[in-house]
Amino acid sequence: MLDIASVARLLEQPRKIVITTHHKPDGDALGSSLGLYNYLIQQGHHAKVVVPSDYPDFLSWMPGNEEVIIYTENVAISDTLIAEAEMIFCLDFNALSRINAMTDSVRASQAVKLMIDHHLEPEDFDDFRYWDINACATAQLVYTFIADALNNKALINKDVATCLYTGIMTDSASFRLPKTTAEVHLIAAELINAGAVNWRIHELVYNSSTENRLRFLGHCLSSKLEVLYEYNTAIVSVTKAELEQYDVQTGDTEGIVNFALSIVNIKLAAFIVERTDGIKLSLRSKGEFPANEICKKYFSGGGHRNAAGGRSDKALDEVVQELKDILPNYKKLLIQ
Ligand code: 5GP
Ligand code: MN
Repeated sequence: MLDIASVARLLEQPRKIVITTHHKPDGDALGSSLGLYNYLIQQGHHAKVVVPSDYPDFLSWMPGNEEVIIYTENVAISDTLIAEAEMIFCLDFNALSRINAMTDSVRASQAVKLMIDHHLEPEDFDDFRYWDINACATAQLVYTFIADALNNKALINKDVATCLYTGIMTDSASFRLPKTTAEVHLIAAELINAGAVNWRIHELVYNSSTENRLRFLGHCLSSKLEVLYEYNTAIVSVTKAELEQYDVQTGDTEGIVNFALSIVNIKLAAFIVERTDGIKLSLRSKGEFPANEICKKYFSGGGHRNAAGGRSDKALDEVVQELKDILPNYKKLLIQ
């Protein structure tokens, strides 16, 4: 493992750098990646953000967005960049399987691999680790990596600040989740001082729905929400046909699970969707309930205690039933 002094020394000269993040990047994945990108290019590094898959329109406005390379749409170029990179920053994930089609190329690359992340149980593929599960967002860690570890706060300009603010805002659910400490608010204030326009970022991310997206949300809440009061659990499940009917785009389903969790006394909420590549589950929980344990044990996934994801190759109804069958095992935690 490298220490921070060795990383700082490596970064003293212009390097070929790839920054990557997890499949279906969210606001923190993209915000932390582009935040780091906008920092590194100021120092003359040849940096590229390569992401495993596409991402929603409400995230496609951050500074540097036009330079992002989507792996599946540019395999040859991406593989060359990864093979020739001297350093690969792995942001907001800690297991190589989370970068899907990019996994083999990144594993095979001779580059120094640097993990900046806040998820549990990191896999051992990195040469440098800046990791803290108490961070509310990877973007928070990118901030302290630049400002404190590398002592380069002066380079947190408007572009860096805008991206990092977006990451912190989205992963903390707009400064609402338990990891939103006083330090997080102080960092947010620093980012606003550095040029992040907080109200505008909120507007771009949260007030940019299409009519279809809102109608789809209405459909989910009025027709697809199942509340199991016996287990303080709420489930929304949707078929591929419904996604087509409402012309649902990447990212349109994000956040629906939080509406289910907002019902009083509900401890566990699930959004289960039939995608072309299988069933995807998004679980959210309140308090001590371990949503990640269910995803890890039963649905080949993982995540945080209160926000986790998983997948399955079974049929949608079977997956919904499987989740319902698991609930009695957790009854004590769910009804307390
Ligand atoms: P989401 O429900 O938004 O897809 O994911 C919620 C959280 O769980 C995120 O922090 C994400 O990184 C994590 N997560 C989602 N899917 C998986 C998965 O398949 N494996 C692991 N380890 N974590 C996941
Ligand atoms: Mn994150």
